[in-house]
Amino acid sequence: MSQPIIGMIGLGMMGIPMANNLLKANYIIHGFDLNQDAKDKLSHSTNFKWQSSATEVALTSDIIILMLPDSKIVDQLLWGQQQDGIVANFKANTLVLDMGSSNPSNSKINAEKLKSLGHDFIDAPVSGGVKRAIDGSLAIMVGGDQSCVQQVMPILQSMGKTIVHVGSGGAGHAVKALNNYVSAAGLLAVSEALVAAQEFGIDPHLANQVFNASTGKNNTTDVKVENFMLSGTFNSGFAIALMRKDIQTANGFIHDMKTPGIFADVCLDRWAAAEQGLEKGADHTAMFKYVKSQPKE
Ligand code: NAD
Repeated sequence: MSQPIIGMIGLGMMGIPMANNLLKANYIIHGFDLNQDAKDKLSHSTNFKWQSSATEVALTSDIIILMLPDSKIVDQLLWGQQQDGIVANFKANTLVLDMGSSNPSNSKINAEKLKSLGHDFIDAPVSGGVKRAIDGSLAIMVGGDQSCVQQVMPILQSMGKTIVHVGSGGAGHAVKALNNYVSAAGLLAVSEALVAAQEFGIDPHLANQVFNASTGKNNTTDVKVENFMLSGTFNSGFAIALMRKDIQTANGFIHDMKTPGIFADVCLDRWAAAEQGLEKGADHTAMFKYVKSQPKE
């Protein structure tokens, strides 16, 4: 394929900066999002074409990147209610690249169904948040056939820095969900630790400084505590609803594997409670605010 047309459906917090990096690498993008605001954010490039619907994207693209909230939306878009989704409008040999954090079981099925229709599917979810989506340094975990992965590698390299092929269709989404469970567990632990430290009269900035110089250091202590939690801004760009979805996916995956998951149960329970207790649309870093607001035991 000389110069593939890349369709991009889902141009939100992550999709916009990822599309910008593809445009910088001279790819041609045909994009669509239910939110029309996305159009203005990308129309600065002559290589970007706004399409009036997801179907239009399907009709004109060779590779279709999905950067959508969850598997329910992905599956509805691809297959519709009765096989009347966008797949019916695909060109021959279309490659679907699901880069959102979808459910590994759904992705495995999507890979098989698309293959049976002569298309291909790769799951390539990302980690690193909006900041690393902007500077093109995302971590990308990839699931799918080796030949397809090789084909899309240059595309992935224009959006990410660490790209690891972790297995067959769905494996990328499994690793992504597990990563976010580990990350969420860390953020919850840091929140509880800092609230307790403050109760004792310890300056939480100093406590976090010590964590960062000690074995407690993790992505939350390193990146989130000062920028989004102790600052009170709670605006990292990753919604708590999406984090809860990812933990739920990881929790389901762990239980499907029948491996130990007691801590994953507690973690999911706490994040679901925080999502309920916080305002609609809250950022995931507001978990700290939620822990702080809880009555003493
Ligand atoms: P977002 O809500 O900002 O963007 C999703 C976009 O999809 C929205 O613009 C929405 O209008 C659009 N959309 C929804 N349904 C659609 C449909 N049927 N057709 C067309 N467009 C539709 O979410 P985001 O933060 O960009 O996250 C996208 C995915 O990436 C999620 O799966 C999320 O879990 C994952 N993710 C997010 C981050 C982050 O830091 N925000 C980091 C890593 C992974």
